[in-house]
Amino acid sequence: MTSVILFVFGTIVGSFLNVVGLRWNNKNFGGRSSCPKCGKTLQWFELAPILSFLIQKGKCRSCGAKISWRYPLIEILTGLIFITTPLWILPVFCIYIIILIYDLHHKIIPDELVYLAIILSLVFRTFVSDLGFRISDLAAALLIFTFFALIWLFSKGYAMGFGDAKLGLSVGLLLGATHGFSAILLAFWLGAAYGISAMIFSRKNITMKSEVPFAPFIILGAWVSLMFDLDLLHVALF
Ligand SMILES: [Zn+2]
Repeated sequence: MTSVILFVFGTIVGSFLNVVGLRWNNKNFGGRSSCPKCGKTLQWFELAPILSFLIQKGKCRSCGAKISWRYPLIEILTGLIFITTPLWILPVFCIYIIILIYDLHHKIIPDELVYLAIILSLVFRTFVSDLGFRISDLAAALLIFTFFALIWLFSKGYAMGFGDAKLGLSVGLLLGATHGFSAILLAFWLGAAYGISAMIFSRKNITMKSEVPFAPFIILGAWVSLMFDLDLLHVALF
């Protein structure tokens, strides 16, 4: 029962994060939610997470414009994160979800959000979790940061943005060495799997050079590695 309540609460938070992610750095930050196509203000029942998408069959009730499947997906993801990760980690994951939405739309990670994530990762890991913060965790975080920064440098910002390096630093600080390394390894596997299937299945002309936002893979990797208590580096090396 507790997980059901937590899941529903998570979807409500997710629907709020959707709005924040879409309006971040946007002049019209406040105000009621409206249809981006016809501008009709949404009714309260059209704001309910997941259900509203199903009731409206994925379309605006006023003009029939398609509503992106990303909204319910983000809501479900947030709900799942709420029931599968420890409470102390949730504030940082909420910021991660805003970053994920923003990166999907703009293909860039906002500096102010990722800096906030770095600071909160360190603070929550050290003072709120009962795990404590070890020197090896700091070393892991810096190693992940350096790894991404080198890819960024050598690909001249093409393969990876510098924002991904900062996000990697935050993940390392938040999850520590074991889960942090697993998250990054998983992110690359997920990214590769996505890239290959996109090239095979997409009707659009996607090539290796198509720009794919990487933050969603880092964040999914962080979640999965935490949820399943993964130790991929150990498995990979020994
Ligand atoms: Zn509309």
